[in-house]
Amino acid sequence: AKAAGTGCWRMFSAEMSEQAMTRLRTEARLRAAELRGEFELFYQPKVDPRSLALRGAEALLRWKTEDGYIAPGDFIPVAEETGLIGPIGDWVLGEACRQASHWRRLHGDLPVAINVSPRQLADGEFPNRVRAALATSGLPAHLLTLEITETVAMTQATGDFAMLRILHDIGVGIAIDDFGTGYASLSHLRRIPLTVLKIDRGFMQSVPHDVAIAATILELGQRLGLEIVAEGVETEPQREWLCTMDCQTIQGFLISRPVPAADFEARFLAGG
Ligand code: C2E
Ligand code: CA
Ligand code: CA
Ligand code: CA
Repeated sequence: AKAAGTGCWRMFSAEMSEQAMTRLRTEARLRAAELRGEFELFYQPKVDPRSLALRGAEALLRWKTEDGYIAPGDFIPVAEETGLIGPIGDWVLGEACRQASHWRRLHGDLPVAINVSPRQLADGEFPNRVRAALATSGLPAHLLTLEITETVAMTQATGDFAMLRILHDIGVGIAIDDFGTGYASLSHLRRIPLTVLKIDRGFMQSVPHDVAIAATILELGQRLGLEIVAEGVETEPQREWLCTMDCQTIQGFLISRPVPAADFEARFLAGG
C-alpha cells in the first residue's frame, strides 16, 4: 500500500509540473503573440428570433497560430493570471470599436459587444480606455456593449457598483453574461445599471422539454425592462419556443458560429 501510495504521489507531481510547464510555455507564446499581432476577433450574429433580422454581434477573441486558431478557453485564464489580459483586452476594445465604426460607415448602425474580464474591470483606468477607444474610432457609445459575467458583476456589490455606474454614464450598454450561473441577488439586479441579460447556454440546452429556468429568467428580465439575449440557441424548437416567449434576441450555432470579420460582413451586412 505504501509503495502504491508513493507511486500515486509521483504521478501526481509529474502531472503538476507538466501543467506548470504548459502554463509557462503558453505565457511565453502569449507575450510573443501580443507583439506579433496574432490575435483576431471573430463575430457571431445576434438576431431577432422571428424575422431573423440582425440586431448586433458579439466579438470573440481568437489566437491565430501556425497550428490554427486557439479558442479563448485555452489561453484567457493564463492571460488573466499573468496580467497579459490588460494589453490583450485593450486591443480587443480598440479593434471592436474600429470594426463597428467601419461597418457603420458602410452598412449602418450595428451594436457590437465585447467580453470584459474581471481584471480589466478592476483597473480604475478602464473607463478612460473605453472613452479613448470610442473617441479614436468615432463610434457612438450606445453601439458598444460590455459583456460582464454575472459573478464578476455581482462582485462589485461589495463596493457600490461604482465602476459599472461610470461605464453606464459613458453610455455603453452593460450586459450580464452567463446569467443564472452565478450568485446574482435579485436586489442587486435592481441596483446595477445594466441593459441586457444573457441567459446562459446551459439553460437553453433543456429547452423545450424543461423550460422552468429559461422561462423564469425571461420573465424576470422582461419585468425589469431589460433586453434578453438567449445564447447557445442550436435548434429550431428552441428558436420557436423563444418566439412564443417574446425573447427579443437570440444567438447561437442555429444562426451562425462566430466567423472572421470579412465573412460576417459578406454574410450578414453586405446586402444579404
Ligand atoms: P461567452 O462570452 O459566454 O461566449 C459564448 C461562447 O459560446 C463562445 O465560445 C461561442 O463561440 C460559444 N457559442 C456560441 N453559440 C453557441 C452555440 O449555439 N452552442 C455552443 N455549444 N456554443 C456556442 P468562445 O468563442 O470559445 O469563447 C469562450 C469564452 O471566452 C467566452 O464565453 C468569454 O467568456 C471568453 N472570451 C471570448 N473572447 C473574449 C475576449 O475578447 N475577452 C475576454 N476577457 N474573454 C473572452
Ligand atoms: Ca459573452
Ligand atoms: Ca455567455
Ligand atoms: Ca460562458
